[in-house]
Amino acid sequence: MPELPEAETVRRGLALTVLNSKIEDIEVFDQRCLKKHPGGSEDFQNLMRGRSFSAAVRRGKFIWMPLDIEGFALVMHLGMSGQALIRTQDYQPESQVRLQMNLENGLQFRFSDQRLFGSLMVDQLQPVEGNSSGYSPETEVQTEIPSSVAHIARDPLDAEFDLDSVKRKIKNRTAGIKHVILDQQLVSGVGNIYADESLWRARLHFNQPANSISSRKLTELFSHIKDVLSEAVEQGGTSFDQQYKNINGQSGYFSQNLNAYGQTGKPCNRCGRLIARKSWENRGSHFCPACQRIRKQKLK
Ligand SMILES: [Zn+2]
Repeated sequence: MPELPEAETVRRGLALTVLNSKIEDIEVFDQRCLKKHPGGSEDFQNLMRGRSFSAAVRRGKFIWMPLDIEGFALVMHLGMSGQALIRTQDYQPESQVRLQMNLENGLQFRFSDQRLFGSLMVDQLQPVEGNSSGYSPETEVQTEIPSSVAHIARDPLDAEFDLDSVKRKIKNRTAGIKHVILDQQLVSGVGNIYADESLWRARLHFNQPANSISSRKLTELFSHIKDVLSEAVEQGGTSFDQQYKNINGQSGYFSQNLNAYGQTGKPCNRCGRLIARKSWENRGSHFCPACQRIRKQKLK
């Protein structure tokens, strides 16, 4: 499932290709990709046709593109297997394309989604507290957020991410630390892959009770989270299951840098003990049984 680095790679690609070019026509091949759009396919097409995108913005793993009609944005959820592909209009057709838009600049936006957990919708924008709503360095600062994204917390790469406030909330939580850092209303952008990687770097067990971790250790963990996310952005994300692609249909390379996620049975890069996988909340957690043990005493 795409996490922050994958969403950022897609967002960057969109910012370079689709902004300020009129949407000339839209073809919907499968209405299910518009399931979150309240007015259905016809309403979506009427709202979008003749408009253009003024920015490509991201918070956590959520991407939206404000339209040149005040107060509205296209919100894209990649779900499990959604792909935003940008092609020339004569480029060979691809399988699983659910919707495509022709732009005045000759490019075509194709939304491909094998498993149909992703979606597109036009949503209303609302103001946010703080100086910006999300990450969009190519355009002017955005101060509005789609109402469907407003409940999502700021991510660790956001200039306004408030580590002290997040740490205070974590100290009141008794759940395991991995469960807590995956809570998108506390901190966004971290999913299964980057949680496992950050916990490995911090030598924390995924089920270590959040309130047993010292302030210093939490600061260390968040520093690893930031590093892991930034490094993965540099590598174009992780294409572990071949579902995630950038806008050119290419995979990311961060899978070569993984220390825990998907490394079951391989030696730990720190101590040599074999990385294990445990079922966890309908997914798996990958960890080193030697470096990442649950500690009984308060963690320093
Ligand atoms: Zn180890």
